Amino acid sequence: MIARWENLSRDQLSMLDKDKTIVLLPMSATEQHGPHLPVGTDAIILQTLIDQMIEAGDRYEEGNVIFAPQLPIGKSNEHMDFCGTLTFSAQTYYALLHDIAACISRHGFKKLVLFNSHGGNTDMANLISRDLRIDFGLQVYVFDWWFTSFWADALKEYQESGKYGVFHACELETSLMLAARPETVHMELAVDEDPADCFTGDKFVTVFGPVNAGWKTKDVTQSGVIGAPTYATEQKGHAFFAYAVEKLLAILREISQINY
Ligand SMILES: [Zn+2]
Repeated sequence: MIARWENLSRDQLSMLDKDKTIVLLPMSATEQHGPHLPVGTDAIILQTLIDQMIEAGDRYEEGNVIFAPQLPIGKSNEHMDFCGTLTFSAQTYYALLHDIAACISRHGFKKLVLFNSHGGNTDMANLISRDLRIDFGLQVYVFDWWFTSFWADALKEYQESGKYGVFHACELETSLMLAARPETVHMELAVDEDPADCFTGDKFVTVFGPVNAGWKTKDVTQSGVIGAPTYATEQKGHAFFAYAVEKLLAILREISQINY
């Protein structure tokens, strides 16, 4: 079964086989996404993917996958120079995640996936995953699609923009939004922007490393876009979602087999 936590009753949750259940905690953001996308982009994309995962539920036979209520605000202080961004401080966000994980653990669940769609949350997810392991004995996994190879195969097939085309409010996110909620996307306002020159090129300090700078969004982009949204299409968006569902099912099947 794949279901939302909030749609199950007390007794249904209590009776789940905790050895065969994975709980995912969706972490996203409410933050500026350039002139053409809504501030809820990361949350909308994650909700849409969860809907599609639930539809694909009969193809997951390894037990139960339960999506906890999504946290639609994350750590987005890098975007605070732009209107509409809401953010927790690192301390608040850490405390929230720690409290929610304590509840999930208290109710007997053993496997927790921090299910993250916002690059600014990645460091927090990785940091707290180890603490949750130590504090509650949970098996904790970090699902992150920004600083991992998650999208690599799909991008190889569909990305038409250049090296910096997929980053923020970009070809990937705009395509996903054209598929998920086209009425909120204003393609006539979309602009492409590469990161500022000091963070690009064939040298050490770039937005892709190997040396990272502690930048805020205004340091990197004037428009608030990093990437090439003008290459986005609804068709690509549907393909990206289909790819994500298949890959996520495979990831969850693998996690279901791990015990540590
Ligand atoms: Zn985003």
